Amino acid sequence: GKLLRVNQSICSIFGYEKDELTGLTLHALSYPDDLEKNIELRRKAMAGEIDHYRMEKRYIHKTGKVIWGLLSVTVERDDQGKIGFFISQLIDITAQKTKEEELKQTQELHQLISEHSLDIIFRMTFRGIVTYVSPVVSQQLGYTPEEIIGENGYDYWHPTDYQKWPNQNFHQVRTIIHRLRHKNGYYIWFETSSKKIYNDAGKIQHIVGISRNITERRIMELKLQEREQHYKSLLKYTPVGICSVDTELNFTDINPAFELLTGYSLQELLSMNFTDLILPDYLHHMQEQLNQSLKSDYYFEGTPILHKDGSIRIIIAWSSPIIINNETVGIYLIAKDITEQKQTEDLLKNSEKLSVVGELAAGIAHEIRNPLTSLKGFIQLHQMEDPENKNKIRHEVMLSEIERINGIVSELLVLSKPANENSYLANVSKELDHVITLFEGQAHLYNITIHKDIDASLPLIHCLGTLKQVFINVLKNAIESMPGGGDIIVQVKQQAAQISIRFIDEGFGIPPEQLPKIGNPFFTTKEKGTGLGLMVSQRIVQNHRGTMHINSETGKGTIVEINLPIE
Ligand code: ADP
Ligand code: MG
Repeated sequence: GKLLRVNQSICSIFGYEKDELTGLTLHALSYPDDLEKNIELRRKAMAGEIDHYRMEKRYIHKTGKVIWGLLSVTVERDDQGKIGFFISQLIDITAQKTKEEELKQTQELHQLISEHSLDIIFRMTFRGIVTYVSPVVSQQLGYTPEEIIGENGYDYWHPTDYQKWPNQNFHQVRTIIHRLRHKNGYYIWFETSSKKIYNDAGKIQHIVGISRNITERRIMELKLQEREQHYKSLLKYTPVGICSVDTELNFTDINPAFELLTGYSLQELLSMNFTDLILPDYLHHMQEQLNQSLKSDYYFEGTPILHKDGSIRIIIAWSSPIIINNETVGIYLIAKDITEQKQTEDLLKNSEKLSVVGELAAGIAHEIRNPLTSLKGFIQLHQMEDPENKNKIRHEVMLSEIERINGIVSELLVLSKPANENSYLANVSKELDHVITLFEGQAHLYNITIHKDIDASLPLIHCLGTLKQVFINVLKNAIESMPGGGDIIVQVKQQAAQISIRFIDEGFGIPPEQLPKIGNPFFTTKEKGTGLGLMVSQRIVQNHRGTMHINSETGKGTIVEINLPIE
């Protein structure tokens, strides 16, 4: 087995020099496991059974790594048949062997996946004829692979889905959700990813794909969709405004009720910030509250917000942070408009106040009037007994103060009169004429002109004797608001089923912060005022089932409008 002569190729296969190799045996270079088979073949050759043999075997390179060789041996005999020497040829097939090995491994892997995966793996022609399908198909769809192979795969599709996903698709890989028919007739949802495999000529050779049963996922999805619809319809039809904002307070979603509440549309709000709805004076306070509500549930009581039409609406709101994966991403806000409710409450409170004051007034007024009469009498007596008029000023002051008390008392008495006094049909314009004549003197004194703008043909309306008192109170206020003179216009017009009476003055007006207090008992800004005039007037107008509005601008003047129903 000794090497006699070697060529350069052998040397480079094994990594030795020529003289290193000669003298070595080929056995010494062999991989031990493959040696036995080699020895057996050589024995046969020596025994004259064969002249030639070939085998694939492994050798060990000088560096120690294993190499694959294709060995081909020819025996050289002399004429007597005696063996002279062996001619061995060796081809290095390591690279080819490694590739084969790899291929075998991937094939094994593919088989493993294909046979044990719960997903159906298939291969089919461009037209859909199935050429392979993994065994799991029997578990999933009830058919054996043999039943399906050779059939058209699209025949198993749900017809609707087949129409929805036309075969001609130019993408390399596509994923489709569709139904496949079980052998028992019902359909199952699958998600199929497929890929077209092209041959060297650029034509589709076949299509490979994998189909996953997504019934459970699909059911979950449908349930989720349904839940979302429930939730959406709740949002849509609830009368309370609901919105969500992000941590920067930008709107992220709103429901129709919230659109109504603010006057802005969904589109408009989505480009707005919550603070855009807040009045400047409240901004700071509100921002603190909103920051608070990013941390925990919060209740906003009676907060004014700016409606798109410029009006101020009062809302109450509940909020809670939106927490997703342990992170606060925004706030949900449930808001209710309580503007009207608040107005009614205020109105109720006011009328309660009025009736209490009315009752009190009834009692007090009578009690005061009688003693006042005697006081007045005695002062007048005292005056007469003082011919030199030594105490003139005191007497005058006392008498004017008593007059003032009397004034208050008479206004209180009007209040206390029962509502259902005898009514008579009257012409409002005539009643007004009387009152205006009454004031002409005083008006002249202050350089005030009272203009009348009264519709010629006004219907008669049912009046109580107290209506004149209203005109007196209102006109008196108008005159008192114009110490520097000017014009007062009294306008009477018929408007639909109402008579509208307007007193327009050019006085100093009423500051906005005082407006809500006007008409409250004893609210006055005048040194000698009683603060009862407007309250009494309101009460009387109410008894006529009418309404009274005050419109005022500081420095410009005031309009008091009284509307009385015609019936
Ligand atoms: P009084 O006239 O005794 O003060 P009123 O009830 O008549 O009581 O009016 C209450 C308050 O309303 C007045 O003090 C005044 O501040 C305000 N007011 C009423 N009418 C006018 C008006 N035409 N112009 C300016 N202020 C008015
Ligand atoms: Mg007054």
